[in-house]
Amino acid sequence: MIFSICMCCGRSKSEPLAKCNNCGADPSGSDLEMAKSLILSTSITNEDGMPVISEDELVSIGDDIGTGESYDFDPVEIKKLLDEKKVLDESPTIQWGFLLFGFCFLIIPIIAIGVFLSS
Ligand SMILES: [Zn+2]
Repeated sequence: MIFSICMCCGRSKSEPLAKCNNCGADPSGSDLEMAKSLILSTSITNEDGMPVISEDELVSIGDDIGTGESYDFDPVEIKKLLDEKKVLDESPTIQWGFLLFGFCFLIIPIIAIGVFLSS
């Protein structure tokens, strides 16, 4: 279960990229805000699969944000997320691969049925 907090008001949210029910902040329009929202959630994990920021830490960060303190984001972490997003955005070949893969699955039964019917 993912725990996340709003980067604007610090309240907890069900989904890092969801619109905040409390203040209405919606990170989905901006890559930078999406990256920040992901960092303020347990969806970012280290090599051991443990959240980089624990739920308890997120709660206390959320309290700080709630009192007007801003959270110091790690620029390296933000850049990493933005780069990952860019890679996904710029690789349509992955999607084409999937299409081709799906096409093969579709065409093989059609040929098999064709062969079956013509014999
Ligand atoms: Zn909010």
